[in-house]
Amino acid sequence: MDADPRSVSQSFGLSVDPLAERPPDRSTEGPAKPSTFIQSLPKSELHLHLEGSIGPDELGELIVRHGGGPVDRARLAQLYKHRDFTAFLDAFKRVTQWLRTPEDYELITYRLMQKLKAENVLHAEVYVSVGVILYRNRDFDAIFEGLERGRQRGERDFGVSLLWIFDAVRHFGVEAAEKVFNKAVQLRERNVVAIGIGGDERLAAPELFRDLYARARNNGLHLTAHAGESSGPQSIFGALDALKAERIGHGLTAWQDRELMTRLAETQVPIEICLTSNLRTGCCAAAERHPLKTYYDRGIMVTLNTDDPAMFETSLCREYQLAQATFGFSDEQLRELAMNSFRASFLPKERKRELLLNF
Ligand SMILES: [Zn+2]
Repeated sequence: MDADPRSVSQSFGLSVDPLAERPPDRSTEGPAKPSTFIQSLPKSELHLHLEGSIGPDELGELIVRHGGGPVDRARLAQLYKHRDFTAFLDAFKRVTQWLRTPEDYELITYRLMQKLKAENVLHAEVYVSVGVILYRNRDFDAIFEGLERGRQRGERDFGVSLLWIFDAVRHFGVEAAEKVFNKAVQLRERNVVAIGIGGDERLAAPELFRDLYARARNNGLHLTAHAGESSGPQSIFGALDALKAERIGHGLTAWQDRELMTRLAETQVPIEICLTSNLRTGCCAAAERHPLKTYYDRGIMVTLNTDDPAMFETSLCREYQLAQATFGFSDEQLRELAMNSFRASFLPKERKRELLLNF
């Protein structure tokens, strides 16, 4: 696949170089620029949505591929400027409507792995919105073959390992989630490691999915859940108690409940922190007010993640840099967070041990 951005500009069929029209690259500015240390840290990413990794370049390619051109780059860029949760969900919908064929999924998987390599991410556990694919009546079995082709090529070319997490959209209801999790069970021998629920937490409590999670667990799948992102601590309790979630996505509101904080510290259930995401969706008002450092100081197992890197114009290195710039994490502490990202992964023990030898 083309690594050269020029070939991307050619695919737009534009006479001017669209790269020249891009907004300034924030990676070259002030505190947002990741240090060499951060760049060189081996990292794993545990909360990353495949569809949220589609940047304007890939989106432009998909639009042209499906006859939706010509591409207006300024308008495309606007899609990435949302400032609250509802606007983000809307943008997510607009981007994913261009994901149609197995080849589209192959392309974005491969491109994601290329970007992960550039961040020195050695392993990723990637959410696929299977709920959205099924909702749109696409041929998921064919799409999965595309996903796997992209993964295999990415692993071969970039040496990044990747496992899939099948994500249901909670506000589509229990029946729709059941279809997603059945697919996960069916494909669990093919790099599908876990299930999750995303979407609008305010519209569907974790308890609704209790039986489905139990069944997935009995079928050898790992369990994650977005919880405490746009809802309070009760949602996190629900993920832990009703779903037996092994990792909590976001967990932003855990600090509001003393008992929950103690429990998270004692059980070491990992929290997948997504700083920029929480700021861009408006779930957290300012970086300094994010509970990351409080969690860390209380001995809770935290990991840093991007959630939807393209949608939120971030990268894993930038998340580490933001954590350091905002909370004063030392390099040694960042190293610990990076080690956590491997410890909290769903990789087999031996593989975790191997990867931790990199530190
Ligand atoms: Zn997420």
